[in-house]
This record gives sequence, structure tokens and C-alpha cells, in this order.
Amino acid sequence: MVIKEAKFLMSNTRVEECPAPDKPEYAFIGRSNVGKSSLINMLTEHKGLAKTSASPGKTQLINHFLINDTWYLVDLPGYGYAKVSKGSRDDWRKMINYYFQKRENLTCVFVLIDSRHEPMKTDLDFINHLGQLGVPFVLVFTKADKQSSVKTDSTIAAYKRTLLQTWDELPNIFVTSSEKRVGRDELLAFIDGVNAQ
Ligand code: GDP
Repeated sequence: MVIKEAKFLMSNTRVEECPAPDKPEYAFIGRSNVGKSSLINMLTEHKGLAKTSASPGKTQLINHFLINDTWYLVDLPGYGYAKVSKGSRDDWRKMINYYFQKRENLTCVFVLIDSRHEPMKTDLDFINHLGQLGVPFVLVFTKADKQSSVKTDSTIAAYKRTLLQTWDELPNIFVTSSEKRVGRDELLAFIDGVNAQ
């Protein structure tokens, strides 16, 4: 896929206020600092499209972008930021769950995971939750340039082992580096393939 146009549409907290659900929608989420903004900017080739928040975890908004006039890219607020109060965390959970359950055009969620770390409880809990809700998702292992491919492979193998203790099937898995533009073609080809179905 060639990205001809990527434009910001709106930010809001309520599904009812999101753009009309008339196009397939792909949402990006992960622990704060996982590299979500960098990945969105790399995919769309727009340096400042997704803003890196100065205070991570503070922006609790559903951000919609329109790509090539054919699909929506959604930047969801991250999770797992230690300094967020319990109240904000509960608000986040409510908003996200409502979005997952009500957003009828939601096609796939890209769950971003830092490829440097062994499986983390917050990520596993989130993945298991998506599975329980029946939301289609894939895993994206970010920042692969930060270590050897052997280490990245071992992180992925550990996630697979852990997930197979609960689930019969594994999701699609991608490896990316926004720094080195790794994984861009694969992610865009995946979206193309799903849109063509
Ligand atoms: P977000 O909070 O998930 O949106 O994360 P950001 O995209 O703002 O990235 C967090 C930090 O990780 C920033 O300092 C980025 O420069 C860095 N970062 C993000 N992606 C990569 C990557 O692929 N490689 C490297 N080396 N650093 C990255």
C-alpha cells in the first residue's frame, strides 16, 4: 500500500462521537512509551501525525486519522503508566471497553509490545482481555533495532509459549523498528489484505 494521504480527523472519548463507521478501522494500542506514536508516524510517513505526549498516560482520547480516504487509523490511549491514578485507569478501562464492544467497523487492533522485555503481566492481561471480548488483534513487537534478532526472537517465543497456555491459536505477529523502518511493508500489506477481503 502506498500512503497517499493521512489526515487527522478528531479526538474524543465517546464512540457515538467518532466518525461514521463507514470504513474499516485499525486501532493501535500498547503500554505507554512502547513506540506507538513513532510507529504510526513511520507507517503514515508523517513525522508529527501522532503526537508524543509530554506527560505519558495523560491523554485519554480516541484519535481518528483517515488514510487514503479508505480506512481509519485510530491511536488509542496507552496503558501501564505507573503515575496514572486509579480513577484515570478506571476511566480508561471503561472508555476502551466501550469502544471495543460498540465500534462496529473495528477491523483489527494492533497491540504493540516492546520487543526487549520478557512477557509483562499488563500486556498479557490486555491480550487475554481482547481474546475474551473476541476482538480481532495482532501483536506488533516494537523497537527491534535496540537488540539482536536473537533476543527479539526469544521475547516472541516467550509470548507464544505463555499465550498457548490459555489459547489454542496464536495471533499474527509482526516485528517493527520505527528507527530503521522495519515492518512497515508487512503491516501495510496486512491491512491491504484485510481490506480486500
Ligand atoms: P508512545 O508513548 O508509545 O507513543 O512512544 P513513542 O513513539 O513516543 O516512543 C517512546 C520512545 O521510544 C521515544 O524516545 C522514541 O524515540 C523511542 N522509540 C520509539 N520507537 C523506536 C524504535 O523503533 N527504535 C528505537 N531505537 N527507539 C524507538
